Amino acid sequence: MIRFDQVSVTYDDAAGPALTGVDLTVDEGELCLLVGPSGVGKSTLLGTVSGLVPHFSGGTLHGTVTVAGRDTRTHRPRELADVVGTVGQDPLAHFVTDTVEDELAYGMESLGLPPDTMRRRVEETLDLLGLAALRERPIATLSGGQQQRVAIGSVLTAHPRVLVLDEPTSALDPAAAEEVLAVLQRLVHDLGTTVLLAEHRLERVVQYADQVIVLPAPGEAPLVGEPAAMMAA
Ligand code: ADP
Ligand code: ADP
Repeated sequence: MIRFDQVSVTYDDAAGPALTGVDLTVDEGELCLLVGPSGVGKSTLLGTVSGLVPHFSGGTLHGTVTVAGRDTRTHRPRELADVVGTVGQDPLAHFVTDTVEDELAYGMESLGLPPDTMRRRVEETLDLLGLAALRERPIATLSGGQQQRVAIGSVLTAHPRVLVLDEPTSALDPAAAEEVLAVLQRLVHDLGTTVLLAEHRLERVVQYADQVIVLPAPGEAPLVGEPAAMMAA
């Protein structure tokens, strides 16, 4: 579903590469966990999947990234919207509408779906994420964990085959983080969504990851393996 072939990214030749020599295959329905200290290139790696790198970041991409067979260099992020959904650290940065249900509907606005399909997908996603009771609430009045679930929901209504999340719990308290991680676990299990997750709550997530990528230091090639082997190393 996701394939990296010798992928490197430089933003500025003087600074050296932000990401070096990544080879990676993530199969459909897998959860792939990305870890490493701040500044090693986690966001850059995720950006190559969503198409932000190279289209909107100023970075130069070497090698090839394909998602569901589409090359992210030749497809702009808009042309990947039905394949890749992206969620960041700060849910508030994500929102464009006022209420929970409007936000879920907005996520599929550009797809040209019939109104009854859109309504069904909003209902299905409210149920999936446990948000049905909050549907008419202004997003600004929700807790951090609820807001992050709405951000995930607004991406899920497009039915992306791949969900990319960049430290989605880093602004949340432990209980809210737990809400969000439980939702991700359910997505992989129930819907077969492929998930690429950068997350520092390693102990919580590693048990259900299929694959772990460790970015050891800026510009160093990543280590890729199964969770048990990576934890032992
Ligand atoms: P992480 O997500 O692991 O913190 P990043 O991918 O954000 O790492 O950053 C990796 C390196 O690339 C850092 O040195 C960062 O300063 C640099 N970088 C990231 N994005 C840009 C950008 N848009 N322009 C220039 N440099 C960037
Ligand atoms: P439509 O594509 O017309 O909205 P459905 O809502 O019935 O049709 O969805 C089609 C299939 O997608 C169903 O099997 C449903 O379980 C599944 N599905 C539901 N939510 C998601 C999701 N977030 N991502 C991918 N598939 C999903």
